[in-house]
Amino acid sequence: MAAKMISGTETAKKIREEIKTEIARLKEKHGITPGLATVLVGDDPASKVYVGAKEKSCKNLGVYSKRVDLPADTSEADLLALVDKLNNDPEIHGILVQLPLPKHINEPRVLYAIDPEKDVDGFHPVNVGKMVIGGDCFLPCTPHGVIELLVRYGIKTEGAEVVIVGRSNIVGKPVLNLLLQKREGGNATVTLCHTRTKDLAFHTKRADILIVATGHPKTVTGDMVKEGVVVIDVGVNRIGKTAEGKAILAGDVDFESVKEKAAAITPVPGGVGPMTIVMLMKNTLQAARNSI
Ligand code: NDP
Repeated sequence: MAAKMISGTETAKKIREEIKTEIARLKEKHGITPGLATVLVGDDPASKVYVGAKEKSCKNLGVYSKRVDLPADTSEADLLALVDKLNNDPEIHGILVQLPLPKHINEPRVLYAIDPEKDVDGFHPVNVGKMVIGGDCFLPCTPHGVIELLVRYGIKTEGAEVVIVGRSNIVGKPVLNLLLQKREGGNATVTLCHTRTKDLAFHTKRADILIVATGHPKTVTGDMVKEGVVVIDVGVNRIGKTAEGKAILAGDVDFESVKEKAAAITPVPGGVGPMTIVMLMKNTLQAARNSI
């Protein structure tokens, strides 16, 4: 059976068009341009790429983008002062502090200083708490992107056995919570696995929908899944370089063996990755709307 490809690239493109229309309407009707501030501390190459991609996406959609690059030795006090300034800047509706931060800075302290109304990453405990109880809030971008892919591809989560591998605060745990909500893209029966799970294959083999976010290539192989499973591979691993020096990416799932049994699967790249940025843009638009 040839697995259907679940394309994040195509889905993100459609959502971008929807956002573009909404942004034009917001400008015309209310004279508001959504504004996103991205803060990068230090010069981690991967973080630079991510921040660059977010900036580019803002430009393409007509979102005002304010990028602040700070040296790696920036003090926590200075960073907190910047966050405070952005919290009070009326042109800025969303604030994103790129992680990881240098070791001398207390990451939670900085993230918790962001005004929850501008927390478009959805990492502030106020938004996390609201997400858990199903309230109105900014949903974290990657988990929201995972759910959006399932919904837009008509993959029914209601009543489905969903198994998640990975329990991080930014992927596994929020995905679990979203799948439990009593709404579209929710109502699933969810199992969350991690490194202390006794028999990973026992669980993955039961999955109607399998979501993998471990940070290790080939965590799940073809012999660990059942025929007809839907697989969302969140992983992004740099497994080598092309002759031109470009990174070769792989997910956390062994794509070749799993696609032989899956009904549908996300590729890496082109799966969850493009969804993350577009959900960030969606949250920024929402933050601007909330400011009316
Ligand atoms: P973390 O390292 O924070 O968490 C990994 C989780 O996977 C942990 O809970 C860990 O368990 C579990 N795990 C690791 N190995 C195994 C294993 N062999 N069996 C079972 N569980 C395992 O990673 P993140 O959640 O931040 O990221 C996960 C992946 O998703 C990465 O590849 C990352 O690059 C990618 N990612 C992609 C994004 C995108 O936009 N596409 C955005 C964010 C992440 P334990 O808790 O017991 O240690």
